[in-house]
Amino acid sequence: MGKKVTVFGSFVVDLMGRSPHLPVPGETVKGSIFKMGPGGKGFNQGVAAHKAGADVTMVTKLGEDAFADVALNTMKDLGMDTKRIFRTGQTETGCALIMVDENTSQNEIVVILGACDTITDEEVESISDLLDDSEFLLTQLETNISSVEKVIDIAYEKGVKIILNTAPVQPVSDSILSKVDLITPNEVEAEILTGIPVDGEENAGRAADYFFEKGVKNVLITLGGKGVYLATSEKRGILPAYRVNAVDTTGAGDAFNGGLVAALAEGKDLWEAASFANALAAISVQRIGTTPAMPEREEIDSFIK
Ligand code: ATP
Repeated sequence: MGKKVTVFGSFVVDLMGRSPHLPVPGETVKGSIFKMGPGGKGFNQGVAAHKAGADVTMVTKLGEDAFADVALNTMKDLGMDTKRIFRTGQTETGCALIMVDENTSQNEIVVILGACDTITDEEVESISDLLDDSEFLLTQLETNISSVEKVIDIAYEKGVKIILNTAPVQPVSDSILSKVDLITPNEVEAEILTGIPVDGEENAGRAADYFFEKGVKNVLITLGGKGVYLATSEKRGILPAYRVNAVDTTGAGDAFNGGLVAALAEGKDLWEAASFANALAAISVQRIGTTPAMPEREEIDSFIK
Protein backbone atom coordinates (compact mmCIF):
# COMPACT_ATOMS: atom_id res chain seq x y z
CA MET A 1 0.00 0.00 0.00
CA GLY A 2 1.28 3.47 -0.90
CA LYS A 3 1.16 6.86 0.75
CA LYS A 4 -1.98 8.08 2.53
CA VAL A 5 -4.69 9.84 0.51
CA THR A 6 -7.45 12.12 1.81
CA VAL A 7 -10.46 12.44 -0.45
CA PHE A 8 -12.58 15.42 0.57
CA GLY A 9 -15.90 15.84 -1.18
CA SER A 10 -19.55 15.18 -1.69
CA PHE A 11 -21.79 12.24 -1.00
CA VAL A 12 -25.19 11.92 -2.65
CA VAL A 13 -27.50 9.00 -3.24
CA ASP A 14 -27.85 8.44 -6.99
CA LEU A 15 -31.38 7.78 -8.20
CA MET A 16 -30.81 6.68 -11.78
CA GLY A 17 -33.35 5.94 -14.49
CA ARG A 18 -32.62 4.81 -18.06
CA SER A 19 -35.02 5.58 -20.89
CA PRO A 20 -35.13 5.38 -24.72
CA HIS A 21 -34.62 9.14 -24.92
CA LEU A 22 -34.25 12.03 -22.47
CA PRO A 23 -37.54 13.88 -21.85
CA VAL A 24 -38.02 17.41 -23.13
CA PRO A 25 -39.65 19.85 -20.65
CA GLY A 26 -43.18 18.70 -19.88
CA GLU A 27 -42.69 15.23 -21.37
CA THR A 28 -42.94 11.97 -19.41
CA VAL A 29 -40.91 9.10 -20.84
CA LYS A 30 -41.39 5.48 -19.79
CA GLY A 31 -38.05 4.30 -18.44
CA SER A 32 -36.63 0.78 -18.50
CA ILE A 33 -34.34 0.51 -15.46
CA PHE A 34 -34.20 2.24 -12.08
CA LYS A 35 -31.23 1.92 -9.73
CA MET A 36 -30.47 3.55 -6.42
CA GLY A 37 -26.96 3.61 -5.05
CA PRO A 38 -24.17 5.62 -3.48
CA GLY A 39 -22.69 8.47 -5.49
CA GLY A 40 -21.42 12.04 -5.36
CA LYS A 41 -18.20 13.10 -7.01
CA GLY A 42 -16.17 12.98 -3.81
CA PHE A 43 -17.52 9.61 -2.72
CA ASN A 44 -17.15 8.06 -6.20
CA GLN A 45 -13.54 9.20 -6.34
CA GLY A 46 -12.84 7.95 -2.83
CA VAL A 47 -14.29 4.53 -3.56
CA ALA A 48 -12.49 4.30 -6.91
CA ALA A 49 -9.16 5.06 -5.21
CA HIS A 50 -9.85 2.66 -2.33
CA LYS A 51 -10.84 -0.21 -4.64
CA ALA A 52 -7.76 0.50 -6.75
CA GLY A 53 -5.69 -0.21 -3.64
CA ALA A 54 -5.03 3.22 -2.12
CA ASP A 55 -4.97 3.96 1.63
CA VAL A 56 -7.90 6.39 1.48
CA THR A 57 -9.67 8.36 4.18
CA MET A 58 -12.96 9.76 2.94
CA VAL A 59 -14.19 13.06 4.34
CA THR A 60 -17.78 14.11 3.66
CA LYS A 61 -20.96 15.14 5.48
CA LEU A 62 -24.24 13.26 5.80
CA GLY A 63 -27.66 13.92 7.29
CA GLU A 64 -29.36 11.78 9.94
CA ASP A 65 -31.57 9.87 7.53
CA ALA A 66 -31.90 6.65 5.53
CA PHE A 67 -29.77 7.99 2.66
CA ALA A 68 -26.87 8.48 5.12
CA ASP A 69 -26.96 4.73 5.76
CA VAL A 70 -26.36 4.15 2.05
CA ALA A 71 -22.97 5.85 2.46
CA LEU A 72 -22.06 4.27 5.78
CA ASN A 73 -23.09 0.75 4.76
CA THR A 74 -21.17 1.02 1.50
CA MET A 75 -18.05 2.18 3.31
CA LYS A 76 -18.32 -0.60 5.89
CA ASP A 77 -18.84 -3.22 3.18
CA LEU A 78 -15.75 -1.95 1.39
CA GLY A 79 -13.69 -1.75 4.57
CA MET A 80 -13.34 2.03 4.41
CA ASP A 81 -12.73 4.22 7.46
CA THR A 82 -15.91 6.11 8.48
CA LYS A 83 -14.34 8.11 11.33
CA ARG A 84 -14.06 11.37 9.34
CA ILE A 85 -17.68 11.52 8.24
CA PHE A 86 -19.48 14.60 9.59
CA ARG A 87 -23.21 14.42 10.40
CA THR A 88 -25.99 16.99 10.70
CA GLY A 89 -29.63 16.82 11.71
CA GLN A 90 -30.25 20.23 10.07
CA THR A 91 -30.44 19.07 6.46
CA GLU A 92 -30.92 15.90 4.40
CA THR A 93 -28.21 13.74 2.93
CA GLY A 94 -27.63 14.76 -0.70
CA CYS A 95 -29.22 13.06 -3.68
CA ALA A 96 -28.83 13.15 -7.46
CA LEU A 97 -31.58 12.59 -10.01
CA ILE A 98 -29.86 11.06 -13.03
CA MET A 99 -31.50 10.33 -16.37
CA VAL A 100 -29.56 8.27 -18.92
CA ASP A 101 -30.47 7.86 -22.59
CA GLU A 102 -30.01 4.14 -23.19
CA ASN A 103 -29.25 4.67 -26.88
CA THR A 104 -26.65 7.42 -26.69
CA SER A 105 -25.49 7.02 -23.03
CA GLN A 106 -25.92 10.79 -22.63
CA ASN A 107 -27.13 11.93 -19.24
CA GLU A 108 -28.91 14.80 -17.52
CA ILE A 109 -28.42 15.29 -13.78
CA VAL A 110 -30.00 17.40 -11.04
CA VAL A 111 -27.98 17.21 -7.82
CA ILE A 112 -29.33 18.36 -4.45
CA LEU A 113 -26.26 18.42 -2.25
CA GLY A 114 -27.89 18.77 1.15
CA ALA A 115 -25.58 17.98 4.08
CA CYS A 116 -22.33 17.92 2.10
CA ASP A 117 -22.95 21.51 1.01
CA THR A 118 -22.82 22.67 4.65
CA ILE A 119 -19.30 21.68 5.78
CA THR A 120 -18.11 24.29 8.27
CA ASP A 121 -14.61 25.75 8.69
CA GLU A 122 -14.46 24.13 12.15
CA GLU A 123 -15.19 20.72 10.64
CA VAL A 124 -12.45 21.20 8.07
CA GLU A 125 -10.04 22.31 10.82
CA SER A 126 -10.85 19.10 12.68
CA ILE A 127 -9.18 17.01 9.94
CA SER A 128 -5.91 18.90 10.29
CA ASP A 129 -4.27 15.84 11.90
CA LEU A 130 -5.45 13.65 9.02
CA LEU A 131 -3.82 16.02 6.54
CA ASP A 132 -0.59 15.87 8.59
CA ASP A 133 -0.40 12.19 7.66
CA SER A 134 -1.55 12.54 4.04
CA GLU A 135 0.68 12.76 1.00
CA PHE A 136 -2.21 13.64 -1.33
CA LEU A 137 -5.49 15.54 -1.05
CA LEU A 138 -8.03 14.93 -3.81
CA THR A 139 -10.98 17.32 -3.85
CA GLN A 140 -13.62 18.70 -6.21
CA LEU A 141 -16.02 21.67 -6.39
CA GLU A 142 -19.17 19.82 -5.32
CA THR A 143 -19.19 20.67 -1.58
CA ASN A 144 -19.64 24.27 -0.46
CA ILE A 145 -16.78 26.29 -1.96
CA SER A 146 -15.77 27.69 1.46
CA SER A 147 -14.96 24.13 2.59
CA VAL A 148 -12.91 23.47 -0.54
CA GLU A 149 -10.94 26.69 -0.02
CA LYS A 150 -10.37 25.85 3.63
CA VAL A 151 -9.18 22.29 3.04
CA ILE A 152 -6.86 23.45 0.26
CA ASP A 153 -5.42 26.19 2.48
CA ILE A 154 -4.70 23.76 5.33
CA ALA A 155 -3.32 21.06 3.04
CA TYR A 156 -1.07 23.55 1.26
CA GLU A 157 0.40 24.80 4.55
CA LYS A 158 1.28 21.20 5.40
CA GLY A 159 2.91 20.49 2.04
CA VAL A 160 0.24 17.97 0.99
CA LYS A 161 0.03 17.53 -2.80
CA ILE A 162 -3.34 18.91 -3.92
CA ILE A 163 -5.30 17.45 -6.82
CA LEU A 164 -8.31 19.57 -7.79
CA ASN A 165 -10.99 18.08 -10.01
CA THR A 166 -12.95 21.13 -11.16
CA ALA A 167 -16.37 19.49 -11.21
CA PRO A 168 -19.06 20.68 -11.12
CA VAL A 169 -17.48 23.74 -12.68
CA GLN A 170 -17.65 27.13 -10.99
CA PRO A 171 -15.20 30.00 -10.68
CA VAL A 172 -11.98 29.09 -8.89
CA SER A 173 -9.96 31.89 -7.29
CA ASP A 174 -6.36 32.59 -8.27
CA SER A 175 -5.43 31.92 -4.65
CA ILE A 176 -6.74 28.33 -4.89
CA LEU A 177 -5.16 27.76 -8.29
CA SER A 178 -1.75 28.86 -7.03
CA LYS A 179 -1.82 26.04 -4.45
CA VAL A 180 -2.84 23.22 -6.80
CA ASP A 181 -0.32 20.58 -7.78
CA LEU A 182 -2.53 18.96 -10.42
CA ILE A 183 -5.79 20.26 -11.92
CA THR A 184 -8.10 17.82 -13.72
CA PRO A 185 -10.91 19.58 -15.63
CA ASN A 186 -12.83 17.92 -18.45
CA GLU A 187 -12.98 19.72 -21.81
CA VAL A 188 -16.07 21.78 -20.91
CA GLU A 189 -14.72 22.78 -17.51
CA ALA A 190 -11.35 23.72 -19.02
CA GLU A 191 -13.10 25.97 -21.53
CA ILE A 192 -15.29 27.65 -18.89
CA LEU A 193 -12.34 28.24 -16.54
CA THR A 194 -9.88 29.47 -19.18
CA GLY A 195 -12.13 30.95 -21.87
CA ILE A 196 -10.29 28.80 -24.43
CA PRO A 197 -12.37 26.23 -26.37
CA VAL A 198 -10.63 22.89 -25.89
CA ASP A 199 -11.31 21.58 -29.40
CA GLY A 200 -7.96 19.99 -30.15
CA GLU A 201 -4.44 19.48 -28.90
CA GLU A 202 -3.26 23.01 -29.69
CA ASN A 203 -6.02 24.69 -27.70
CA ALA A 204 -5.69 22.15 -24.88
CA GLY A 205 -2.08 23.36 -24.69
CA ARG A 206 -3.21 26.98 -24.55
CA ALA A 207 -5.65 26.12 -21.75
CA ALA A 208 -2.82 24.37 -19.90
CA ASP A 209 -0.66 27.49 -20.27
CA TYR A 210 -3.45 29.56 -18.72
CA PHE A 211 -3.40 27.31 -15.65
CA PHE A 212 0.41 27.33 -15.51
CA GLU A 213 0.35 31.13 -15.45
CA LYS A 214 -1.94 30.93 -12.41
CA GLY A 215 0.61 28.77 -10.60
CA VAL A 216 -0.91 25.31 -11.15
CA LYS A 217 1.98 22.86 -11.44
CA ASN A 218 0.49 20.16 -13.69
CA VAL A 219 -2.57 20.13 -15.95
CA LEU A 220 -4.60 17.12 -17.05
CA ILE A 221 -7.69 17.69 -19.21
CA THR A 222 -9.93 14.65 -19.62
CA LEU A 223 -11.26 14.26 -23.15
CA GLY A 224 -13.93 11.57 -22.72
CA GLY A 225 -13.52 8.71 -25.23
CA LYS A 226 -10.45 10.48 -26.65
CA GLY A 227 -8.45 10.07 -23.43
CA VAL A 228 -6.57 12.88 -21.73
CA TYR A 229 -4.32 15.82 -22.49
CA LEU A 230 -1.50 15.99 -19.96
CA ALA A 231 0.91 18.87 -19.54
CA THR A 232 3.79 18.99 -17.06
CA SER A 233 6.74 21.39 -17.03
CA GLU A 234 8.80 18.84 -19.04
CA LYS A 235 6.38 17.18 -21.41
CA ARG A 236 2.89 17.50 -22.88
CA GLY A 237 0.60 15.49 -25.15
CA ILE A 238 -2.45 13.27 -25.53
CA LEU A 239 -2.72 9.86 -23.89
CA PRO A 240 -5.48 8.02 -25.80
CA ALA A 241 -8.37 6.28 -24.00
CA TYR A 242 -8.85 2.52 -24.22
CA ARG A 243 -11.31 1.54 -26.95
CA VAL A 244 -14.29 -0.03 -25.22
CA ASN A 245 -18.04 -0.24 -25.67
CA ALA A 246 -19.28 2.48 -23.27
CA VAL A 247 -22.76 1.88 -21.85
CA ASP A 248 -22.83 4.58 -19.13
CA THR A 249 -20.19 7.30 -18.90
CA THR A 250 -21.71 8.85 -15.75
CA GLY A 251 -18.90 9.01 -13.23
CA ALA A 252 -16.14 8.40 -15.80
CA GLY A 253 -14.33 11.47 -14.54
CA ASP A 254 -14.66 10.24 -10.97
CA ALA A 255 -13.30 6.82 -11.87
CA PHE A 256 -10.40 8.53 -13.61
CA ASN A 257 -9.55 10.85 -10.71
CA GLY A 258 -9.74 8.04 -8.16
CA GLY A 259 -7.44 5.90 -10.29
CA LEU A 260 -5.08 8.79 -10.80
CA VAL A 261 -4.55 9.51 -7.10
CA ALA A 262 -4.26 5.80 -6.27
CA ALA A 263 -1.50 5.38 -8.85
CA LEU A 264 0.31 8.56 -7.77
CA ALA A 265 0.19 7.40 -4.14
CA GLU A 266 1.93 4.19 -5.25
CA GLY A 267 4.76 6.26 -6.64
CA LYS A 268 3.86 6.11 -10.35
CA ASP A 269 4.75 9.23 -12.34
CA LEU A 270 1.96 11.35 -13.82
CA TRP A 271 2.08 9.68 -17.24
CA GLU A 272 1.95 6.17 -15.78
CA ALA A 273 -0.77 7.27 -13.36
CA ALA A 274 -2.87 8.76 -16.17
CA SER A 275 -2.54 5.54 -18.13
CA PHE A 276 -3.67 3.50 -15.10
CA ALA A 277 -6.60 5.93 -14.60
CA ASN A 278 -7.57 5.61 -18.29
CA ALA A 279 -7.83 1.84 -17.74
CA LEU A 280 -9.87 2.17 -14.55
CA ALA A 281 -12.26 4.64 -16.23
CA ALA A 282 -12.54 2.46 -19.35
CA ILE A 283 -13.75 -0.44 -17.19
CA SER A 284 -16.21 1.80 -15.34
CA VAL A 285 -17.88 3.15 -18.50
CA GLN A 286 -18.78 -0.40 -19.51
CA ARG A 287 -20.97 -0.65 -16.40
CA ILE A 288 -24.13 1.07 -15.25
CA GLY A 289 -23.93 3.35 -12.20
CA THR A 290 -21.25 5.42 -10.52
CA THR A 291 -19.82 4.13 -7.22
CA PRO A 292 -20.83 0.50 -7.97
CA ALA A 293 -19.13 0.72 -11.39
CA MET A 294 -15.67 1.20 -9.88
CA PRO A 295 -13.49 -1.87 -10.51
CA GLU A 296 -11.38 -3.89 -8.09
CA ARG A 297 -7.59 -3.68 -8.41
CA GLU A 298 -7.30 -7.20 -9.87
CA GLU A 299 -9.74 -6.26 -12.64
CA ILE A 300 -7.68 -3.19 -13.53
CA ASP A 301 -4.43 -5.16 -13.56
CA SER A 302 -5.85 -7.88 -15.80
CA PHE A 303 -7.44 -5.26 -18.11
CA ILE A 304 -4.06 -3.56 -18.56
CA LYS A 305 -2.21 -6.84 -19.36
P1 ATP B 1 -18.53 12.55 -16.08
O1 ATP B 1 -18.86 14.00 -15.85
O2 ATP B 1 -19.51 11.83 -16.94
O3 ATP B 1 -18.16 11.82 -14.86
P2 ATP B 1 -16.18 13.69 -17.22
O4 ATP B 1 -16.73 14.60 -18.29
O5 ATP B 1 -15.70 14.29 -15.96
O6 ATP B 1 -17.19 12.52 -16.94
P3 ATP B 1 -14.64 12.46 -19.28
O7 ATP B 1 -13.63 13.40 -19.85
O8 ATP B 1 -15.89 12.23 -20.07
O9 ATP B 1 -14.95 12.88 -17.79
O10 ATP B 1 -13.97 11.03 -19.05
C1 ATP B 1 -12.98 10.80 -18.08
C2 ATP B 1 -12.11 9.67 -18.53
O11 ATP B 1 -12.92 8.47 -18.63
C3 ATP B 1 -11.49 9.83 -19.89
O12 ATP B 1 -10.31 10.61 -19.83
C4 ATP B 1 -11.24 8.38 -20.27
O13 ATP B 1 -10.10 7.88 -19.59
C5 ATP B 1 -12.47 7.67 -19.69
N1 ATP B 1 -13.56 7.56 -20.68
C6 ATP B 1 -14.63 8.37 -20.80
N2 ATP B 1 -15.42 7.97 -21.82
C7 ATP B 1 -14.82 6.89 -22.37
C8 ATP B 1 -15.11 6.01 -23.46
N3 ATP B 1 -16.19 6.19 -24.21
N4 ATP B 1 -14.24 5.01 -23.72
C9 ATP B 1 -13.13 4.82 -22.97
N5 ATP B 1 -12.80 5.60 -21.91
C10 ATP B 1 -13.62 6.62 -21.62
